[in-house]
Amino acid sequence: MVKKNLIGLSAGEISELIGIAGFNPALAVPVAHSIYKKRTTDFELINKVPKKLKEMLKENFSAGLFQPVSFELSGDGTIKYLFTTSDGRLFETVFIPENKRNTVCISTQSGCQMGCTFCATAGYGFHGNLSAGEIVNQVISLPGAEKVTHVVLMGMGEPMDNLDNVLKACNILTSGWGLALSPGNVTVSTVGITPGIERFLDESRCNLALSLFSPFPPEREVMIPVEAKYPVKSILELLKHYPVRKNRRLSVAYVMIKDMNDTERHLSELKSLIQGSGIRVNLLPYHPTGKDLHVSSSPDRMIYFKHNLVISGISASIRKSRGVDISAACGLLASDLR
Ligand code: SF4
Repeated sequence: MVKKNLIGLSAGEISELIGIAGFNPALAVPVAHSIYKKRTTDFELINKVPKKLKEMLKENFSAGLFQPVSFELSGDGTIKYLFTTSDGRLFETVFIPENKRNTVCISTQSGCQMGCTFCATAGYGFHGNLSAGEIVNQVISLPGAEKVTHVVLMGMGEPMDNLDNVLKACNILTSGWGLALSPGNVTVSTVGITPGIERFLDESRCNLALSLFSPFPPEREVMIPVEAKYPVKSILELLKHYPVRKNRRLSVAYVMIKDMNDTERHLSELKSLIQGSGIRVNLLPYHPTGKDLHVSSSPDRMIYFKHNLVISGISASIRKSRGVDISAACGLLASDLR
């Protein structure tokens, strides 16, 4: 008999399982805490539960983590891990250490079907959704899991295209019975799928980052095809009028390409789109993929954009590139899988 893996289940789902077996459903809390926070795979080691429950769990369930199949270490300390699902679909995870902050960038799908032209993952194609367990496993199976302070769902895949599993994973990452990360330290990134964003805002307290690329819809649509179906201007209106909960950050990611989206015209339109919204702008260097001849905006140009945004009252920052030498930086995941 193949034992059901508890990784990926909420405390509520575990309580149903143990309740059906005749145990106090409240014991799901120490069970969930042990498998997620302490990464206990041996039920014998769970504290505060009766021996009979441990025996029942051992007989019927597992709490198996699956390890990465390989990893690469960048000169800047970033580590890229390659995972495979039980049916052989590949996905990547990136561990980014920085002073006291350790961030894991995790994937929500194997590949992606959004077709963004600036992203290597699009070129890998779409190979399916990851389950909530496969999403959470990318954090808890890593060697330095106990040191993780931040999680960003910005790896392979579009989170809003696999929202049930993403919401479940966010719940496990942020609940007291789970990894107990602050929702303010978990960020979900999207290219903008309106129904998914609406549901995400209602059902999660985690941060949201929207990939903008260009403030001009025809230009954006060339790079991010989903613009044709869900115009970013209407998404920004939705975000502007959404009652922001305490500690939740709404931001736009603006990947900067020389002479393509870093002109005065772009800066001026970007400012008018964001001004007064309370939405933060994160400026990111561009990482060319394959035979792409485009190059990133220069550091000076990025500083110029940031300065102009800030003096216009817009909160803005420049994100550093990490792990470029191992194709782990933004937009490069899956470049080695094609
Ligand atoms: S940018 Fe995100 S949504 Fe677009 S293809 Fe890449 S992984 Fe998919």
